[in-house]
Amino acid sequence: MVLILQIAIVTIVTEQVDVTAVMIVKTVTALMANVPRTRLTILKLLIGCFYYIITTMNERVVFKIDKELDFQNHLIAMRVCKERYGFDKYPYGKYYKDLYEANEIKRHEIFEQVAHLYNPEYKKFCELAVKQTQEVWNIVESDFIKKMEKIHGNLFSWDVIYGILSTTPDGRYGYDLNKNTPWFACQYYSPLYSINTAMHEIMHFFFHEYFEKDCRAKFSLTHSEVWAVKEALTIILNIECKNLILKTDTGKPGHGELREKIKIDWLECKNFKKVLYNACEFIKTSRN
Ligand SMILES: [Zn+2]
Repeated sequence: MVLILQIAIVTIVTEQVDVTAVMIVKTVTALMANVPRTRLTILKLLIGCFYYIITTMNERVVFKIDKELDFQNHLIAMRVCKERYGFDKYPYGKYYKDLYEANEIKRHEIFEQVAHLYNPEYKKFCELAVKQTQEVWNIVESDFIKKMEKIHGNLFSWDVIYGILSTTPDGRYGYDLNKNTPWFACQYYSPLYSINTAMHEIMHFFFHEYFEKDCRAKFSLTHSEVWAVKEALTIILNIECKNLILKTDTGKPGHGELREKIKIDWLECKNFKKVLYNACEFIKTSRN
């Protein structure tokens, strides 16, 4: 046990999790030869817990498959479709309209017909998708968080944020900032796309946590205007995180002018609050 603890300390200090895990398994297997069977079972459980803790303790963003949260993301997409585009004009409007008009039980049935990912025969693909997405994310996490903290002048204050691999038919990704399990949704089919989505959504998290209240009070913007400012601000990712993102953050249709304004302001002063205030002022004076 002393040996295991020593290895754990090495793990925490060096972050050589995978290498160390193999060392633990080999060491414990050798030790197990003389241990009675019941104690062996308990020992295996303890090792399992220990391995889980050491492999996840450094991760601030944890990707997972969660059917219920994916369902919640479909409902978020449904509301966005209704309020922003209208069911009849939207390519997947029929699906969202069916969801909207159904009761709670029927909604789950409609969702199940689209969300094939949860069929038991796809379990191995789900596990692989989660593993690969996490691996890609882990390459950029530390640098990305440092960038976000520097851009916003505020700390990444969440113990953990969950990245939910989602099955929305149109690839629409929402989020929920609730304090217990804050999460965002992202692609299930591409780890490289998923991390771009993760960066985009986490930038929104910073906006909501540290700036939204202030800019709402100061500029009396409508819900839609706040949304436009929030979405346009992600152009900063293309400037500050260009070595971390593989796909340019394109933003939303109709926000080109605002994004260009933010880009020019950012390059000029690199002061997030100032750029945000300018963007709010810009959108306010652009009202018809
Ligand atoms: Zn967004």
